[in-house]
Amino acid sequence: MNILTSFSESVRPEFAGPSWQAELRNAVRSAAELCRELDLPPELAVAAADGAEDFAVFVPRAYLKRIQQGDPGDPLLRQVLPVGEEKAVVEGFSRDPVGDTSATLQAGVLQKYAGRALLITTGACAVHCRYCFRRHYPYEESPHSEAAWDQALASIATDETIREVILSGGDPLMLVDERLAMLTKKIAAIAHVTRLRIHTRLPIMVPSRVTDELLDWFTNNQLTSVMVIHANHAQELDSEVAAAMARLQQAGVMLLNQAVLLRGVNDSVDAQAALSDRLIAMGVVPYYLHQLDRVAGAAHFEVPMDEGKQIVAALRTRLPGYAVPKYVQEVAGELSKVILT
Ligand SMILES: *Cc1c(COP(=O)(O)O)cnc(C)c1O
Ligand code: SF4
Repeated sequence: MNILTSFSESVRPEFAGPSWQAELRNAVRSAAELCRELDLPPELAVAAADGAEDFAVFVPRAYLKRIQQGDPGDPLLRQVLPVGEEKAVVEGFSRDPVGDTSATLQAGVLQKYAGRALLITTGACAVHCRYCFRRHYPYEESPHSEAAWDQALASIATDETIREVILSGGDPLMLVDERLAMLTKKIAAIAHVTRLRIHTRLPIMVPSRVTDELLDWFTNNQLTSVMVIHANHAQELDSEVAAAMARLQQAGVMLLNQAVLLRGVNDSVDAQAALSDRLIAMGVVPYYLHQLDRVAGAAHFEVPMDEGKQIVAALRTRLPGYAVPKYVQEVAGELSKVILT
């Protein structure tokens, strides 16, 4: 696991850049600090040490302040505080649950579905989610230099069926704006690519990431811009996040959300309804609710599929159709995400 290695590469500590980079430098990096800041019993940090061994704690302060003080069951805390259960070996949970290795077109380019190619832009993230399906992804094999990017993009340029490029990671918005602008320019130069999609948690974790420069590079080209944010709970979406969403919307970016169904975080009809309501209020359409990918270390987050189906069915009776996300699962080898109804 090398999320932190590549982190130091894209966010150089000596670089006095925009405030979002300072926020990342000041992030909480240990369970002990997390427990201290949130007034939680130190025993929790002891239990966390085990789980954090191969995937360290990383929580930016903008997110930290949305976590309820002194509540070990807080749905936001549960996403970021390691627990001893991460060490459990559970049958069916593996290191590459979604078949990323076999879908690799070329170092750093994944293609699973028609018309869309996904670029692994960086291994770095603005938060370490304990349920992350890419926590064991071999990021060191992805391109890090401009020449390596050119090679990755060349494979997209030769396939005219690819209409959309998806920037993923890690989190693509961990890259500095100049690098993103360089990458986008090259993508926009490929005639058959018409859409650029970004999958990111950064506008939620660190809303100040939505800089003027980011809006410029994202929208100053002829590509249709889509951003898929990743919020799992209404409590993640405070007024700062709403302001960041409003800026993106004004810039003409289509905003969607994907969530993961997580035990103890959002596994109730009320939690899902509150999330959808909050998203719609911010102009973000609930796109997908993912069944948990069965990655080693995340078994304690799994909600059985039958239960998930019941939650979504109940949601449908409460909310307008556009506010109900599609409940989906990623199945290695399938031609699209599989819809669970
Ligand atoms: C999920 C995913 C996509 C996007 O799928 P949509 O259904 O279009 O959201 C594209 N490529 C890969 C490799 C994916 O895992
Ligand atoms: S932001 Fe996404 S890729 Fe990064 S740790 Fe969280 S789930 Fe994983």
